[in-house]
Amino acid sequence: MTILNRTVRDDLKNDLAAMITSSPNGYGGVDGDERWAAEIRRLADLRNATILAHNYQLPAIQDVADHVGDSLALSRIAAEAPEETIVFCGVHFMAETAKILSPDKTVLIPDQRAGCSLADSITPEDLRAWKDDHPGAVVVSYVNTTAAVKALTDICCTSSNAVDVVASIGADREVLFCPDQFLGAHVRRVTGRRNLHVWAGECHVHAGINGDELTDQAREHPDAELFVHPECGCATSALYLAGEGAFPAERVKILSTGGMLDAARATHARQVLVATEIGMLYQLRNAAPGVDFRAVNDRASCKYMKMTTPAALLRCLLEGADEVHVDAQTSRLARQSVQRMIAIGQPGGGE
Ligand code: SF4
Repeated sequence: MTILNRTVRDDLKNDLAAMITSSPNGYGGVDGDERWAAEIRRLADLRNATILAHNYQLPAIQDVADHVGDSLALSRIAAEAPEETIVFCGVHFMAETAKILSPDKTVLIPDQRAGCSLADSITPEDLRAWKDDHPGAVVVSYVNTTAAVKALTDICCTSSNAVDVVASIGADREVLFCPDQFLGAHVRRVTGRRNLHVWAGECHVHAGINGDELTDQAREHPDAELFVHPECGCATSALYLAGEGAFPAERVKILSTGGMLDAARATHARQVLVATEIGMLYQLRNAAPGVDFRAVNDRASCKYMKMTTPAALLRCLLEGADEVHVDAQTSRLARQSVQRMIAIGQPGGGE
């Protein structure tokens, strides 16, 4: 009976593997249906792997994962998980952060081409040159950066604790803040700090979440609340614009993922506008089916996040690829900058 089961399952595995197609845009050819989900769970067990999915992943990927959350929360779960292998369904810098915090585990990403336009907006060479222009300055980097940039950073931050991190630095020290210009402008406004230099990076997704759009939506939906999830770069422009008064402050809620889900269940508003990547709507609608959740910008979809397709995850578990590596020296230095962040203020996160 056992042999028969194994044969049937191997046939299924081979059938599914034969369906996977590959192109420069990613892996395809497999539907995220029940048969696929059962095979994913079986392969994860065989590999002693835990599957982590970022909030902005496709619904099928979120449903099959062991944990869903933001990048920092998932990295912490990865470090504490008993499994030897972490499958990180997200973008590359997130999987790198998981590897930095779990150097002894095998960390896999379903498609290593899943990058991040914000993380890519500053290279280690850029940062070295910037530091040379400002000797003695303290470097504060948003977590949406590569491991190599984190290794050149003094303190990382999330948007939840960016103000606290900058405030912890002596007022006479210059600060280099990268890579997100919206988060940097928000921190400069709140702290009033003049010796804070901001790198002109941005995430391509948030370009569509602009002040006019927010103001129009506030006028059109006078009773709606606005939820801003700050952990991904696409929300930082909304964070900045809300502070500028583009949306009435009393109706703006800046929330981590866990806080956003709690607020969704507790809200008395019939309508909630969500200023972040549209993948988050899936969880919110599940959490509070009676509330009308609407995207501030329904085009705010991250193509990199959507590269984790059902086919990519299946290939990942079949082949044990793509493995994420961070060299020991980079990992050690990057870990220090992440740990300093965790020690200051509330780094946010939480499922
Ligand atoms: S939404 Fe923007 S910041 Fe987030 S992963 Fe995609 S490109 Fe990067």
